[in-house]
Amino acid sequence: MICTICNGSFDPAALSLADPAVEVGHILAVEKYGDAGTVCAPCLASRGRLAMMYDPDLQY
Ligand SMILES: [Zn+2]
Repeated sequence: MICTICNGSFDPAALSLADPAVEVGHILAVEKYGDAGTVCAPCLASRGRLAMMYDPDLQY
């Protein structure tokens, strides 16, 4: 798979949700952006970290 954000190749099957930032990013990808499976773990993590810092609606 090619990540739609950074255009790097990654393996969606190897995605680990052990990092809470990745988990939040993945939830956002599923529920908000609809692009789950097309974004790599580092990009999910940065999305998750930003959401946790700046989105008051998110309290995971
Ligand atoms: Zn990426």
